[in-house]
Amino acid sequence: MPTLSERDHAVLWHPYTQMQTAPLPIPIIRGEGSWLVAEDGTRYLDAISSWWVNLHGHGHPHIAERVSEQLRTLEHVLFAGFTHPAAVELAEQLLTLLPANQARVFYSDNGSTAVEVALKMVLQYFHNQGQPERRTFICFQNSYHGDTFGAMAVSARGAFTEPFWPLLFDVEFLDVPVPGHEAETLAQLDTLLLRPDVAGFIFEPLVLGTAGMVMYEPEVLSELLRRCHQAGVLCISDEVMTGFGRTGPLFASELLTEQPDIMCFSKGLTGGTLAMGLTTCAAPIYEAFLSHDKMRALFHGHSYTANPVACAAALASLELTRADECTQQRRRIEAAHTVFRQELAGKPGVRAVRHRGTILAVEYDPGEGTSYFSRLRDAFYQLALDHHVVLRPLGNVVYLLPPYCTTNEELDLLYAVLRRMRELVLDFTPAPNLPEILHD
Ligand SMILES: *Cc1c(COP(=O)(O)O)cnc(C)c1O
Repeated sequence: MPTLSERDHAVLWHPYTQMQTAPLPIPIIRGEGSWLVAEDGTRYLDAISSWWVNLHGHGHPHIAERVSEQLRTLEHVLFAGFTHPAAVELAEQLLTLLPANQARVFYSDNGSTAVEVALKMVLQYFHNQGQPERRTFICFQNSYHGDTFGAMAVSARGAFTEPFWPLLFDVEFLDVPVPGHEAETLAQLDTLLLRPDVAGFIFEPLVLGTAGMVMYEPEVLSELLRRCHQAGVLCISDEVMTGFGRTGPLFASELLTEQPDIMCFSKGLTGGTLAMGLTTCAAPIYEAFLSHDKMRALFHGHSYTANPVACAAALASLELTRADECTQQRRRIEAAHTVFRQELAGKPGVRAVRHRGTILAVEYDPGEGTSYFSRLRDAFYQLALDHHVVLRPLGNVVYLLPPYCTTNEELDLLYAVLRRMRELVLDFTPAPNLPEILHD
């Protein structure tokens, strides 16, 4: 009898995976809180919230209850010409929580589509205003906004998108204003803003996830937004990863003194249970699409737009996220990270330790010649698995992004693994092999 992993290997094609060399996938049959339970009974601590989506733990009974209720009531209805209670309720609630200027909610399916919608809102906003020459986007070096073509275009020109580079529209890249380099980025922006063709600035607020949890401060981001606004450029805050409490407050944009015009959400939106994206915008953007002319409408939609079951999951998750217990959990994780950061910072083998909210990233210092594709990454990945911990290192950067229900004892296990990784780095001599393309 072939195992589940072998049957998988015969028919499936996994994301970000070199199928020829990747080990067989681990079959997971159940999730409980911060743990994933494998077919053979092995339990793995999900330290990265299953690709940054899970907030309150796996198999949460409250979300499960609300989802199953919704499934029995109304599983789906088309969202043009029709509406339903869960979609309205979720939009109403979110708008009371988002920065005050956010006025409208547009549903889609995932983070990439939320970004596509945001880009199209900006371009058509200027088109409808009779300024079609405004069509250039500014984004950060090393940024990641998704895998569809528009989202790839406003993301870093990295190895993963190289086959598509000729088809990606041109954008202008800014250096990330990491501490000590704010002035350079502001100067770069000032130069770009002299151009008449700039339409929008899209950014991951405070933490660039895929770049290696690169962090920068709210003050400089507020200043970038202020200068964009002065030049009539629209600002898109991609909160797909940072939303719903990851950085401390409910949304990273809460820490800004200048509000974004458009915001994108997905991942934690449904607490990690169902795929859904949404894009919100300020009133002037929405109003630029209002007309007696049908052709000025936003022509974008997906079959599953505002799926009621996903909306119900989001409502249930939001209820949990807004409860005092969740705020306390996030503070507790943040406090534990602060202590661990102090322990590790400055030690040999560690280049930097970064931390914001519940996200902690350790940048190890393996000496010469390492990259995202390094063997060290694989060694880290395996070391974590050997300790029954799921981590996906970004090259020499290993980060924790745990579900909020992760206990102090579970955090201690994660810190122990990060300490072991430092020992591994100190012993590590890079193998002479050529770089290999690996699963991210
Ligand atoms: C993951 C991510 C996306 C893409 O979301 P998908 O749901 O994977 O399409 C976009 N932006 C950011 C900041 C992300 O972290």
